[in-house]
Amino acid sequence: MEYKILKKPEYGQKIEFKNEKIFVSDNPIIPFIEGDGIGPDIWSATKNVIDAAVKKAYDGKKEIAWYKIYAGLDALNKYGNDNILPEDTLNAIKEYKVAIKGPLTTPVGKFDYVCLKCSKEQDGIDGNRPKKCIKCGAKFITPRFRSLNVGLRQKLDLYACVRPVRWFNGVPAPVKKPEKLDVIIFRENTEDVYSGIEFQENSNDAKKLIGFLKEKFNKDIRKDSGIGIKPISITGSKRLIRKAIDYAIQNNKPSVTLVHKGNIMKFTEGAFRDWGYELAKSEYRDEIITEQELWDEYDGNMPKGKVLIKDRIADQTFQQLLLRPDEYSVLATPNLNGDYISDACAAQVGGLGLAPGANIGDKMALFEATHGTAPKYTGMDKVNPSSLIISGVMMLQYLGWNEAADLIELALEKTISNKSVTYDLERQMEGATKLKTSEFGKKIVENM
Ligand code: NAP
Repeated sequence: MEYKILKKPEYGQKIEFKNEKIFVSDNPIIPFIEGDGIGPDIWSATKNVIDAAVKKAYDGKKEIAWYKIYAGLDALNKYGNDNILPEDTLNAIKEYKVAIKGPLTTPVGKFDYVCLKCSKEQDGIDGNRPKKCIKCGAKFITPRFRSLNVGLRQKLDLYACVRPVRWFNGVPAPVKKPEKLDVIIFRENTEDVYSGIEFQENSNDAKKLIGFLKEKFNKDIRKDSGIGIKPISITGSKRLIRKAIDYAIQNNKPSVTLVHKGNIMKFTEGAFRDWGYELAKSEYRDEIITEQELWDEYDGNMPKGKVLIKDRIADQTFQQLLLRPDEYSVLATPNLNGDYISDACAAQVGGLGLAPGANIGDKMALFEATHGTAPKYTGMDKVNPSSLIISGVMMLQYLGWNEAADLIELALEKTISNKSVTYDLERQMEGATKLKTSEFGKKIVENM
């Protein structure tokens, strides 16, 4: 891989995949993006916690070779030219396979569109997407990334957004029994109404599309409508649901629930459900049982060693997750449902501050804090680093370094239940001790 500015790491080895299996040396090279705003504070605490856990779990025999890469404002300083997501950064993640990042500012740029081929940013024409790039003539013009995170996911095809949500002992939560929720959400990351195909109300393209649908399909759309397109494909759905089922099997989870709104949107959300069952039955026949089969053949008694595949309508899922949370484990959802459900679940166990996340593709994964850059706290050593730390736990699990991951989870839980916390939790907990970001990180290390 060619790099413009990045230098090769001085030590460590690349993570490799062979026949879908990950191979990790004792010194894997892992690129990291510190992030903007509070990023450097939470990254520094996270790195210390991960390094301490790895050292302790493996008696110093393993050590991550961290490799700094750049995105966001950090990249602007290093690379200039409005380059907030340098090719170097994308190439490093592609080459080293597993990376971790802090939050990034979404730039409010002066241009609305960008060419995916040459990256030239440009204005729309009469408010519409340009037909071709003003620099290279390519037709791959997209609306400017709505955020750098979306840009990273799209460019690296990280199609599964994975968000585990569980309660940590001691965290104040709005429900009576937060410990009953323990789910992991696999949200499709590339399709659905997030695909970015939108037409502004009264634009020429919107008018053309409305006319076309009337003329060719006799479908009426109100003339003053903006229009968004919702593509959901077999490819996109199956590869996401495959990840969810694989996870359930590998981690002995009891069920995978396909969450959809198929009663209304039959050929997108309904198809997502149908393709899910089709995949489960064709690729995992010996490992799964569907809910229908459970009742038809087993009288509702779950046979040992199988994963139950069921489906639920999205609105019903929201109430079920509140009323009967312990009946859910792995959830697989199209993009929009998953966006809502992830945050609703996180709120149920005490908020987004502790919610980790990962964006996973084929043989590539990017772990990240799910909150933003909280710019007013920049450089104050004040905020809660837990989201990034728990994302680090997910990363260690992905590497197969479960002993280190467990050490961190237990120590973090102990630290919070001892009421040694950062300001955000301290203000909700009676008798708690308020710690700085760095002090909180040190406390976790002490509690390992
Ligand atoms: P935000 O950065 O998440 O901050 C909103 C509020 O959430 C903060 O003021 C703070 O609340 C609380 N908070 C966030 N992180 C916290 C932490 N680690 N510990 C304790 N409290 C925390 O959301 P925003 O202000 O809407 O967005 C700021 C920038 O971040 C924007 O540029 C946005 O685009 C970007 N963003 C990036 C990502 C990402 O990179 N994944 C995600 C979301 C947003 P209090 O004020 O109550 O203390």
